[in-house]
Amino acid sequence: MQKTFQVGSKSFVLDQAKAEAAFSAKKVINGRGTMTFNLLPLKYQWAYDLYRKMKANHWEPEDIPMGKDIEQWRDEKTVSDVERWIIRMGIGYFSAAEGIVGDNIQHVVRELVTAPELKLVLGRHAHEENIHADSLLYMISSLQINPHECEAMFEDIPTIVRKNEFVTKTSHALRRDLDLTLPENKRLLAKNIFIFGQCMEGTQFYGLFGMVLSLYRQNKFPGIGQMFRYTLRDESNHIEVFRNLFMDLVDENQEIWTAEFKEELRSLMREAVQLEKEFIRDCLPVNSIGLAADDFVAYIDYIADRRLESCGLAPLSPGLKNPLPWLAEMMDIKKEQNFFEGRVTEYQKASSLNVASDDEL
Ligand code: FE
Ligand code: MN
Repeated sequence: MQKTFQVGSKSFVLDQAKAEAAFSAKKVINGRGTMTFNLLPLKYQWAYDLYRKMKANHWEPEDIPMGKDIEQWRDEKTVSDVERWIIRMGIGYFSAAEGIVGDNIQHVVRELVTAPELKLVLGRHAHEENIHADSLLYMISSLQINPHECEAMFEDIPTIVRKNEFVTKTSHALRRDLDLTLPENKRLLAKNIFIFGQCMEGTQFYGLFGMVLSLYRQNKFPGIGQMFRYTLRDESNHIEVFRNLFMDLVDENQEIWTAEFKEELRSLMREAVQLEKEFIRDCLPVNSIGLAADDFVAYIDYIADRRLESCGLAPLSPGLKNPLPWLAEMMDIKKEQNFFEGRVTEYQKASSLNVASDDEL
């Protein structure tokens, strides 16, 4: 079908069939060039919906008061050395990890996908990693922690080094022009998306999330706790972005979805879980009030299986129950209406308010 626009002496013919053919060639990877820039018509509606949801959750670190945290940090009696160590590990691990995630989005995933609505949501995702990194800077300067300590933790704590090596090893090989028509390269990208979304953001972030929120639950470090809750809300969207991306990539490239590949992904998760458990033991070398390393270790097994199942993969330890039900409740921050009072709501534009929010975990 053709439509002609007559404007003055000129006539313009628009060909619907040609546009539809271009649309059907819009793909996660190896899409048609002309559909690399046109958001409309949307093919990946989920990407646009998540972009809007993420935008509506916008927050800025300096809006969160740190007065109480500073007071507690200096007071020997209120918080123990173990509790201070958890905060240091949180800052030490995340200040580098947020950057690693953002870098992988910008230089690997966003470069390789071709549909523009995917690039749109990935741009927002990368920006949120900047906000998270910025929130850690804010914590460091508020508590007056020596900034060199962060770099030192990144270099000197072996369990942090190993977690970072685990994720970056799939990132570097994907940086240059990659022939994504080859199944082995498609698998490399799928693996990268699985590792970053499900193993790292989806599982390896949760040991510290749990510990910091456990402190928050005891009214310790309320400002830091609140920032971690905002971060966690963002991460749940990031996990969903990468899960959808992974599922659509597999769906459009069925040849990569072999029993062998599925097993490879499951063993990557097994490795991620092992690294996270060792890291938890470093964060919590001795148990503290309301904080037992065994509980967090069990929680990692539980959450890793939820991630695997969400990607159509078999769990590693079927039948596990959530050992920390309060954590799931605390992570679902929408239930707490008052939490949104204050500056955060002001960022929400009226147009964004009608977007349904249905975070899980
Ligand atoms: Fe983040
Ligand atoms: Mn993230």
